[in-house]
Amino acid sequence: LSEGLDGLRELPCETTDGYRVPLWVNTGLLADVVRAQERGAEGVGLYRTEVPFMIKERFPSEKEQLAIYREQLQAFHPLPVTMRTLDIGGDKSLSYFPIKEENPFLGWRGIRVTLDHPEIFLVQVRAMLKASEGLNNLRILLPMISGLQELEEALRLIHRAFAEVLDEGTDVQMPPVGVMIEVPAAVYLTRELARQADFISVGSNDLTQYLLAVDRNNPRVAALYDYLHPAVLEALQRVVNEAHTEGKPVSICGEMAGDPGAAMLLMAMGFDSLSMNATNLPKVKSLLRQVSLQDSRELLARVQQLDNPKIIQSTLQLSLRNLG
Ligand code: PEP
Ligand code: MG
Repeated sequence: LSEGLDGLRELPCETTDGYRVPLWVNTGLLADVVRAQERGAEGVGLYRTEVPFMIKERFPSEKEQLAIYREQLQAFHPLPVTMRTLDIGGDKSLSYFPIKEENPFLGWRGIRVTLDHPEIFLVQVRAMLKASEGLNNLRILLPMISGLQELEEALRLIHRAFAEVLDEGTDVQMPPVGVMIEVPAAVYLTRELARQADFISVGSNDLTQYLLAVDRNNPRVAALYDYLHPAVLEALQRVVNEAHTEGKPVSICGEMAGDPGAAMLLMAMGFDSLSMNATNLPKVKSLLRQVSLQDSRELLARVQQLDNPKIIQSTLQLSLRNLG
């Protein structure tokens, strides 16, 4: 790292040829806020709301949620905070809302649960909206969307919650609503989803798992879990292109964005912002400040010709090493 990590905090994430890409953080607990600020995050690309739910013994009330969300929104204001609606199921369960299934990752998770329980969804969205009163830096993100009807139903509920809180006298603007692209079906529907949503955010952790049919948590197949797989890279480029065709910004919030070499490829693909764990942010910023957008695009073009994930990885490593 050529610049000290501390010195990096105030510097923009800007390539040597002057291209800027905002680096955002993923958060869950209030403790993440401090680390994010120490590292100079430009916003929150993913606030995992299931985290505060997981440390409780019962569903937090609307009032309790409001207080938790307001802390996040206030801490980053005026920077944007992207709050994902409850994403339980899969590997994340609540002790007070057990879900037992043969194939939890293919089962009742994310938006599927909350659309079946609109009372949970409405309380959460109402709490988010009320928490954003006077701040208006809230963005709402929907997890595990696999079809247009889910987005339409979620939007209908969000508009209902918005009308309700306005009726109760809350003075808040309608926040942007975004869709996570993390199910292969959604990759092919990005264009239509982007038409109805305000922004797109790729969840590369799940997208890699579902595209490659490799459980993201199973050590036996861990070697097959690879976000540099050519199929994943092709899907990502497609999502960026389709979102941009609809004039909508596209971000990425999986672990991949926190890998400096991968981040270089994502920037070259055209992702408008990268959201990562605060720990990785300085490493990513440091690298992107040492490369040009043009070199990154050339590297991406070379990588897009390769069909072997291991060779893609070594090509990346080699070009990073050449940077010194
Ligand atoms: C993802 O799937 O990439 C993502 C960001 O969400 P989570 O890791 O919480 O499933
Ligand atoms: Mg996910």
